[in-house]
Amino acid sequence: MKIEIIPCLNDNYSYLIFEKETNTVSIVDPSEFNSCDRIVQKYKKLDYILSTHHHFDHVDGNLKLKKKYNSKVLGFDKDKERIPGIDIKLKDNQKFKIGDLEFKVIFVPGHTNGHIAFYFEKEKILFSGDTLFSLGCGKVFEGTHKDMFNSLNKLKSLSPDTKIYCGHEYTKKNYDFCIKYDPENSFLKEKAKLINLKLKDNLPTIPSNLTDELKTNVFLRCNDKGLKQTLNLKDCSDQEIFTKLRDLKDTF
Ligand code: ZN
Ligand code: FE
Repeated sequence: MKIEIIPCLNDNYSYLIFEKETNTVSIVDPSEFNSCDRIVQKYKKLDYILSTHHHFDHVDGNLKLKKKYNSKVLGFDKDKERIPGIDIKLKDNQKFKIGDLEFKVIFVPGHTNGHIAFYFEKEKILFSGDTLFSLGCGKVFEGTHKDMFNSLNKLKSLSPDTKIYCGHEYTKKNYDFCIKYDPENSFLKEKAKLINLKLKDNLPTIPSNLTDELKTNVFLRCNDKGLKQTLNLKDCSDQEIFTKLRDLKDTF
């Protein structure tokens, strides 16, 4: 499984997936036609377009790419009205094969009501869209904070060595937020060094991995006593901590 990171717009990432055995080419969340097509052209084909959610910065390339390469668009069944060009309607927990690669659909509402993530269980690779970012999580637009909290908990339960490919390069700004509320976290400080090295060379900080995120991403650490203390909310539930952090981040 070869993954090419395609920077799009200001800070979006689309991802091309190439599976050699069956020469299958897929793309996750084609943000815009031109940047994605430049990469797809190298392969001369595009079999599948995978959509995590309906926001324009994730699906704007769907129709033009589909038209040019006669691709099949995959999206969440319950969001079929909003995924441009949808052909294959996926259900929660459904398994689907693109060539020799199999992924599982994980329904993760919160950012939108129809958001899904794609989990390649064997390869331990997750495409998380705008649900889980490196050191952050997506804004709660359509669902409730409870939805988002539960969705992140679903992702937390995946294999710790899972690589995470998310929808945006927000890592630096997310770091600034995490360190404010988790100032003593030595893993976070270590992670900052890596992030700065990458960004200095204009490279993506993606992929991250779940082990790192569990130790450094405050939105996955709502059960942490130190964090609760810093927030002055030591008697609050994990979900209340999540809501507080998400609110604080919205105005950060
Ligand atoms: Zn979005
Ligand atoms: Fe987005």
